[in-house]
Amino acid sequence: MYTRPPASPAAPANHPPASPAAPANHPPADHRRLGRELRLFATDPLAGAGLPLWLPDGAVIRAELERLAAEEAVRGGCQRVYTPVLAKRALFERSGHWAKFADDMFPPMQVGGEEFILRPANCPHHALIYAAEQRSFRDLPVRLSELGSMFRSELSGVLGGLSRVRQINLDDTHVFCAPWQVQDEIARGVEAVRRCYRLLGIDVARYRLSRRGSGGGHLGDAGLWVDAERQLAAALADLGLDFEDAPGEAAFYGPKIDVQVTDPAGREETLSTVQLDFNQPERFDLGFIGSDGASQRPVMIHRGVLSAMERLVAHLIERYDGAFPPWLAPVQLLVLPVAEPNAERARLVAGRAAVAGLRADCVSADATLNARIRRAHERRIPYIAVIGDREAGSDAVSLRLRDGRRLDGVTVDRLILQVADLVAGRSADLGFR
Ligand SMILES: [Zn+2]
Repeated sequence: MYTRPPASPAAPANHPPASPAAPANHPPADHRRLGRELRLFATDPLAGAGLPLWLPDGAVIRAELERLAAEEAVRGGCQRVYTPVLAKRALFERSGHWAKFADDMFPPMQVGGEEFILRPANCPHHALIYAAEQRSFRDLPVRLSELGSMFRSELSGVLGGLSRVRQINLDDTHVFCAPWQVQDEIARGVEAVRRCYRLLGIDVARYRLSRRGSGGGHLGDAGLWVDAERQLAAALADLGLDFEDAPGEAAFYGPKIDVQVTDPAGREETLSTVQLDFNQPERFDLGFIGSDGASQRPVMIHRGVLSAMERLVAHLIERYDGAFPPWLAPVQLLVLPVAEPNAERARLVAGRAAVAGLRADCVSADATLNARIRRAHERRIPYIAVIGDREAGSDAVSLRLRDGRRLDGVTVDRLILQVADLVAGRSADLGFR
């Protein structure tokens, strides 16, 4: 699918309390400021505006989200594919992107008498994968999933931001199904979104069903639309979800469900979408052999669960005010020796945590303990383990949690086991209650 990026960034309503170290009247969450302060991403004029560089800590967050997207895709019955970011201009002429969105696409590159384009979407590639084999009704639905890079020829990217960029990395699935399978596939898509949002702590503001209006210009026959819209509404109703009916808001090629979320400033944006498409199957002449032996046209569904990594991470930075749940935190555990003689033991504890799969770090006693704890709180690190002479004799640490709690005498085994458990379960909770 092809969507325009939002004009401005957005963030959530009831986000968790800010870390105790944050100044009382700190400015509202802005992903550009936090991204800079927490060293998550950067831009360089030499590389170009709207082309962010993901720094190591930002890359950790993105990698965790990509892992979630991949797991969710497999769980949702999808097959993973990889397709190139470049294709001949002819592909996008066939798909219709060139006629409709050429102004938003980078100009073609001439190579050996052929023209290549940085793709605006990966749907055409997935249509080709579907078309590469003879399909029967028994093979359907075919669900192809890819976290792919796509390009927008934005005239001016917002420098330092993730919300208006020239390359997006989109979690995108294309489902090819029979017309009577639409309701099931819509329900699967919406369920995948809800599962991920529960994990990520994102509240849905509302579901919006964009339907065909009274105006013309819609592709496909009226009966197909009526049936598809009925299946979309039924899928939402079966899931017990209220939705806003939006007649006249559908794209010319099919109805869709938008999942609307609200940022901390109260602005609404669309992160996830389940979009029906009667157009691409026509344009690529896709078919499947029905039970009667006759060739039929499949419906294509664009299922964007986690959205673009740029848009999602911008949203989450603001939603959490930089205090990510342990599974997303770039550094999960910081071990601090009280003084230099405790440094060796602190390094050993960090090493044990790393062996257990945690992102653990250790800083030397280069400043007062309080100054180092403050710095760790500023980085929103969820767990800080302090090791002094008292702890050294007992294989324990003094644990400081990001929410301000302090627990003395926590054994290293308990610390590592419990944090690893919370991380494995992608828990939003800091535990230790
Ligand atoms: Zn698509």
